[in-house]
Amino acid sequence: MAADTTEAVVQADREYILQTYARPDFVFERGEGVYLYDTDGKQYLDFVAGIAVNALGYGDPDVTEAIAAQAAKLIHVSNLYHTAPGGELARMLVESSPAFDKVFFSNSGAEAIEGAIKFARRYAREHFGEGKTTIVAFDGSFHGRTMGAVAVTAREKYREPFMPVMPGVRFADYNDLASLEAAMGDDVCAVLLEPIQGEGGLRVADESFLKAARALCDRHHALLIFDEIQCGMGRTGTLWGHEPSGVRPDMMTVAKPLAGGLPIGAVLLNQRIADTIHAGDHGTTFGGNPLSTAVAGVVLRKISDPDFLAHVRQVSSYLDESLQDLAADMPGTVLELRGRGLMRGIRIAGSAGAIREAAHSHGLLVATAGDDVIRLLPPLVIDTQHIDAAVAALREVLR
Ligand SMILES: *Cc1c(COP(=O)(O)O)cnc(C)c1O
Repeated sequence: MAADTTEAVVQADREYILQTYARPDFVFERGEGVYLYDTDGKQYLDFVAGIAVNALGYGDPDVTEAIAAQAAKLIHVSNLYHTAPGGELARMLVESSPAFDKVFFSNSGAEAIEGAIKFARRYAREHFGEGKTTIVAFDGSFHGRTMGAVAVTAREKYREPFMPVMPGVRFADYNDLASLEAAMGDDVCAVLLEPIQGEGGLRVADESFLKAARALCDRHHALLIFDEIQCGMGRTGTLWGHEPSGVRPDMMTVAKPLAGGLPIGAVLLNQRIADTIHAGDHGTTFGGNPLSTAVAGVVLRKISDPDFLAHVRQVSSYLDESLQDLAADMPGTVLELRGRGLMRGIRIAGSAGAIREAAHSHGLLVATAGDDVIRLLPPLVIDTQHIDAAVAALREVLR
């Protein structure tokens, strides 16, 4: 495609699309494996993966085939009727963890968070009456952009311009048990946390903190909700990010990679909560439609495969070693390595946004988390050679 066409696309976006996103001025046309190609044919090694969505990379044949096959049969009939793929996916999700018994499907991560908040309040009201409505969330959290989700998102920039947002939220310090203890009370219906924070800077919850949060929730009859929208689905080498801690949450939100790039969200919950939710309490037109759930079934089956997860762990430790070397070689520039698995942060002295832009000329896509953290979220199907190429490009742009 000619350069003038690229310019026309960028121009049309600027003119007609609400300018809530700051995009670089190239246009993606297609993807293959772990690479994206723009309209000039330039190749980019993708360490963003559509913000942790494209776990299987681009053009996975099983995903493509599942989309075509299900689209030919049935895309949508609404939640007024039964269709097979939703129940099948829900069964697989429930069987993926001992903590959960039921699933509610939504269309996005933020909607999964909204659902979880509503279910927590519904449960608390049924068991304890009207006063138990407070949600405890954490500094550095990100849970989405709707009014309930921004209310539990720490960053003021996302929340303050839209006040009043949903009331009844208290923030505690992440990984700080004393702070969480102080935030707890009989008015708390749920504690909501990301086992590994995404947009907020790639901090990892200590195992002891997760265990303490579980104990505090039990003591105060509050529900423990894990947001695994970014850290779940194999990204850290286990299917769920909280798995190594052994802690059982009462609810969990899942979204980004679940349907291979089609919009979907899910709330997984236990039977005690499910018993308090009745027909008509919550709903959605599109959520759990046969297309997205059929494709998600294929994605979940592939990612749950022990060999697939073993591959993620193997490339994760290679990435870790490569980043340790980078940090050792650039002590004044690389200040801290964060994250786990294929969800990594590099805190640098300087602007992460400037590094992200500079990486484009080296054919590398990276994300950021806040002002000074470079965020790496490669497709889970990457290999060591891709890690070598990405780290070499980062070395160049950080110099
Ligand atoms: C992206 C994200 C969300 C919001 O998901 P959307 O699909 O963008 O609404 C919520 N929580 C976490 C941890 C996320 O990474």
